[in-house]
Amino acid sequence: MGKFVELDYDEWESIYKPIKNHLDPNASFDGYMFETYDSELEFVKSQRPDHIWMYGDGDDGGTYIWSGWGFINRIGYFITEVPCPPTDTIQVLVSHNWYYCENCDAEMEDPDNLIRDAFQEQDLEKCPKCATIEELTLVALEK
Ligand SMILES: [Zn+2]
Repeated sequence: MGKFVELDYDEWESIYKPIKNHLDPNASFDGYMFETYDSELEFVKSQRPDHIWMYGDGDDGGTYIWSGWGFINRIGYFITEVPCPPTDTIQVLVSHNWYYCENCDAEMEDPDNLIRDAFQEQDLEKCPKCATIEELTLVALEK
């Protein structure tokens, strides 16, 4: 039976050692994250499965890194030097507090879910970066 292990990002980084994304010098997470398309996806798929991790949205609105390869709610992938134990499931809490914009794909810190709540209240699938001045006034947030 495998274990379910929860780690924070710093623990995960120091234990499993993600490798840099050599295909994109400006990759997210200080250059560690791989995108879910094109050459970066091809590179991820060419790695051994127990070295692949998925980054995505959790059901609670937070974002997580999970051991293994997945398609649901995925945002990106990581490759680590150290393999995940084959029978364990590892979940890494990245943040409870990121806002992901469906409209422009921006991600931003939203420590108290203020951005999310303000935009949801107005049924706007937007963020402060892509909202118009009028919409920002409507949600009572300023750029
Ligand atoms: Zn946006």
